[in-house]
Amino acid sequence: MNQQAISQQAISQQAIAQQTTSSDYRVHNFCAGPATLPTAVLQKAQQELLNWQNKGVSVMEISHRSDEFAQIAHNAQNNLKHLLNIGDDYQVLFLQGGASLQFSVVAMNLLHGVADYLQTGLWSKKAIDEAKRYQSLGRIHVVASGESYNYTTIPDSQTWQLSDHADYFYYCPNETVHGLYLPKPPQVTAPIVADMSSCLLSAPIDVNQFGVIYAGAQKNIGIAGLTIVIIHKQLLGHANAICPTTQNYTQQANCASMVNTPPTFAWYMTNLVLEWLIEQGGIDAIYAQNIAKAERLYRFIDGSDFYANHVDKRFRSLMNIPFRLADDRLNDLFVANASLQGLLNLQGHRSVGGMRASIYNALNQQAIDDLIEFMTTFERQNA
Ligand code: PMP
Repeated sequence: MNQQAISQQAISQQAIAQQTTSSDYRVHNFCAGPATLPTAVLQKAQQELLNWQNKGVSVMEISHRSDEFAQIAHNAQNNLKHLLNIGDDYQVLFLQGGASLQFSVVAMNLLHGVADYLQTGLWSKKAIDEAKRYQSLGRIHVVASGESYNYTTIPDSQTWQLSDHADYFYYCPNETVHGLYLPKPPQVTAPIVADMSSCLLSAPIDVNQFGVIYAGAQKNIGIAGLTIVIIHKQLLGHANAICPTTQNYTQQANCASMVNTPPTFAWYMTNLVLEWLIEQGGIDAIYAQNIAKAERLYRFIDGSDFYANHVDKRFRSLMNIPFRLADDRLNDLFVANASLQGLLNLQGHRSVGGMRASIYNALNQQAIDDLIEFMTTFERQNA
């Protein structure tokens, strides 16, 4: 390298170092979860961190039983009800333990005879395996499985072996790992339990069609540590005796989700995200953006011989877009080069490999444009 090239390289490295150490440096983060948050939300939290509402303490340092925290809890509940049009016949709970804990909690609260499960990918499979630990309470019946299709499609509902009087029908509308999305709830008679961890608040839903909706917060709702449960009040009061108090939906409902100390900071962050979402124009507005972002990326992938998405087009996720390169040996190079361009966390889930772009609400159109530009260049250099 000649002297001029060396000094130019030094200048650009210095520029990158200056950029990355600046307090407002942000990349496009395609992580499946914990996922990117709206910058405005992080800024608000940063601004309020030391001195929350002129109290001289942070929100993390106040009692969950204080009037101040009660106000946050109340606002979060109201904002969620407003965004999803949740009626008074539903109870909203703000719980801890992550979405995975709900795999057991659902069974402990609702299983008495038989429960139907639709197996469409890794997360519903995990829920089935976990629920099977409670066979002493009732039978876990898998109505259909997409495993033989490598979870690239949903088995035709005509083939599902539904039970006559199931306590509930369980499914995962958006399989985060496989990028498989069932936008409409299935036509079944049992109350529907839906793990919406990676799709709640990304698209309109009719809550009245569900018995229980739950979601871990760390994708579209807030940060890890909080799980939202929306449950029809008719399903309360049926928990099995083995259910711990902290996991009992009815007892949590009776205590405004404060049987014990809740994850207060995560709850506060969720309220900031909900306020942000309302400012964006609510679910319909964000849904329109989500469709535009996903369509653009799918169109690009489908138009290329170098990249491929194998999911049945009827069931493609708007939130998680897995794709493969023509040659898997290029995966590491792709991820490394993308990171250098400020496009982070594009590697697929370890169970399936390949790539995955998780494009939740907070990821803007610019991120998609930049990703496509990078993918175009990478293809040109490596095809
Ligand atoms: N369900 C789905 C659909 C998920 O995507 C995830 C996490 N990626 C989980 C459940 C598990 O969430 P947690 O780690 O909070 O238990």
